[in-house]
Parts: sequence; C-alpha cells; structure tokens
Amino acid sequence: MSNTVVLITGGSGLVGQAIRHVIETEPEGSRFGKKPGETWIFASSSEGDLRDPAQTRQLFEKYKPTHVIHLAALVGGLFKNMKYKASRLTFLRDNILINDNVLQTSYERKAQKLISCLSTCVFPDKVEYPLDEHKIHSGPPHESNFGYAHAKRMVDVQNHAYKEEFGCNFTSAIPTNVFGPHDNFDLEDSHVIPGLIHKCYLAKKNNTPFVVSGTGKPLRQFIFSWDLAKLFIWMLREYDDVEPVILSVGEDEEVSIKEVADAIVKAVNFRGDYTFDTSRADGQFRKPASNKKLLTLMNGFEFTPFEKALDITVDWFLKNYDTARTGKV
Ligand code: NAP
Ligand code: GDP
Repeated sequence: MSNTVVLITGGSGLVGQAIRHVIETEPEGSRFGKKPGETWIFASSSEGDLRDPAQTRQLFEKYKPTHVIHLAALVGGLFKNMKYKASRLTFLRDNILINDNVLQTSYERKAQKLISCLSTCVFPDKVEYPLDEHKIHSGPPHESNFGYAHAKRMVDVQNHAYKEEFGCNFTSAIPTNVFGPHDNFDLEDSHVIPGLIHKCYLAKKNNTPFVVSGTGKPLRQFIFSWDLAKLFIWMLREYDDVEPVILSVGEDEEVSIKEVADAIVKAVNFRGDYTFDTSRADGQFRKPASNKKLLTLMNGFEFTPFEKALDITVDWFLKNYDTARTGKV
C-alpha cells in the first residue's frame, strides 16, 4: 500500500493504542509492521466528536484517510451497560450516531476500505453455541447490552447496503472480551480484567478485602489487545469481504471469572484471600465464539498465552497508575 493514510477512530483507547504499539514495534515491512508509504493516525474524541456529522467530516478533511479502522464507541463492561439500562437509549443512540457518521463520511470521502469494530456482545442471547459469523441477527441480544448490541449489529446491515448500492469495501471485525495496556481500569465501569486488576491492587496496597462480583462461574474468551491489533492489521491488508470475521482465541479456551481472579491474584502478587459478592450480576453465563474462519483465512495465528498477557497488563498498570484511566479525578 503506497501513500496510504490509515485513520484509527478511537485511537486513544485500549484497542487503538494496541494498534499503535504493534505498528511501531513490529519490524518495518513485516506482516504486522509499518510498510513504506504508510501514515497511521490515531484520533481521540478531542479531535472531533464523531456523534456530530460536521466534526466527523472535519476529521476526514484534515487527514484524508485512504483506509479507516473504526474503533470509536461508547464502551463499557457489564455493570456500566446495566447502569445505563434505565437510559439504554444513550448506548443505542451514541453508537448509532458515531457509526452512521463514520460510515457515511468514509463513503463520501471515498475511503478505499473501512473496518468497523463489533463485539461478541452483539450476538443473540439464546442461540446455539459456538457463535459464528452467520448468527449475528438470529435473535435478540442479552438484555444487559440491548443498546450497544443493536447499534453495533446495524453496522453489519449498513456495510452490506453500502457495498450493494455503492460498491464500498466496508467490513467488520468481532472481537471477544479484550484486555491490555491503556485499558479503562475504572472500578465500576470497566470490563472484568481491568476492574479486578485495580481492585486487587488496592486490596494489596491498603490491606482491604478483594471482592469479585458475581459467582465467579461465568465463562469468557479473552483476547490480548496486542494480538487483536495484529488481527486488525491483517484484516486491513489481506481481507476484502463484507462479511464479518470473529477475532478470538479458540472456543476451547474459555476461562471462568474465578480463574481470571486467581490469575490476577498471582500477577499482582496479592497474598490475602478474596470473596465473591453473589448479590451482583453474572451477566451472560457464556458466549463461546468460533475462530475457525479467522484461522483458516490466516493460515494459523499464535496467540500470546493468557498469563503472559496478564503480566504485561499488570506491569503496565503499575507503571502507569498515575495517568491510567482509573476513575480517579
Ligand atoms: P476504549 O478504550 O473505551 O476507547 C474508546 C475510544 O473511542 C477512545 O479513543 C475514545 O476517545 C473514543 N470515543 C468514544 N466516544 C467518542 C466520540 N463520541 N467521538 C470520538 N471518539 C470517541 O474502548 P476499546 O475497548 O478500545 O474499544 C474499541 C472498540 O472495540 C469499540 O468499538 C468496542 O465496542 C470494541 N470492543 C471492545 C471490547 C473490550 O473488551 N474492550 C470487546 C469487544 C469489542 P477518548 O479517548 O477521547 O475518550
Ligand atoms: P461481559 O463479557 O460483557 O459480560 O463483560 P465484563 O468484562 O464486564 O465481564 C462480566 C463478568 O465478570 C460477569 O460475570 C461479572 O459478574 C464478572 N465480574 C467480576 N468482577 C467484575 C468487575 O469488577 N467488573 C466487571 N465488569 N465484571 C466483573
């Protein structure tokens, strides 16, 4: 790709910063490294609120992207999604607006390629497992993420419409639960891994109880953000189809929340005991997704072992505690 400008919306977030890390650290010219003639732009909301069409156009006018990886979204873990349930319109509408503006502007400014980010949270609640790319629209999502899921599903519908009507090269990626450096480590609004890392760190520091929400029994597939970044770069360069691709570890690599807590205790070197607050929600029990399509297309991919990825994340959190997103003001 020569004279390529890749715009990453949501470039300041967990996944955006992971793409920056990979592009800057992989050998130049390699499969996931920077290629000659490429410019990578990592945009945050301070460069433009993508809920607003005029600000979205301004951002595209400024950088004139040839390629777009669209990550910007109103994001949150189970408890943030549930908190917003009373006003589920916020998750629905913010994400609809952001996505519509980015897709329409990519079309108007003739971007050669756009990859938008969905999530395995968008899949139906009651569905036969494992999840695969054909099952997105086959039933209502889990009630805890009604707004987020419906807004994100619509991107797949829009991608097909833009392709059919205008021939646009638009597609989408579907990651599972992501973690890594630059995550949101807020105690309440984050996903489970960053939330528990922060809680465990405070328990160790202050000699206070470490409490894990729910029963610890639900199962999740986790993907390390640096691995996910490589998969996005692969998609950008090597995948040209409107149908989404699930970006995940194997369906046989589900981990229970208790196993996550145990691994965090080890990584943080916390010596106390911990308990489960079973009055809090478990959310979906499991949602295993198949990575068969991904591995077939890529001819295999080596994921970072979970413990190693967790150590990198905890190490980053400890070194960056003062500036990390921890919810403190
Ligand atoms: P994140 O760390 O919370 O980052 C969100 C990014 O979106 C930030 O760069 C933020 O900018 C930007 N943003 C939010 N609202 C915006 C607006 N109105 N206008 C412009 N930019 C806006 O999120 P993430 O975890 O990296 O998520 C990236 C993508 O992955 C999202 O599409 C998400 O749905 C998807 N995903 C995430 C997970 C997960 O476990 N984290 C799992 C599956 C899918 P500021 O920094 O300026 O606020
Ligand atoms: P989900 O995969 O969309 O449900 O997202 P989360 O990353 O928020 O994971 C939720 C699961 O982790 C649920 O089973 C929660 O009960 C459990 N969990 C345990 N402690 C925490 C915590 O501190 N924060 C979050 N978000 N979830 C937690």
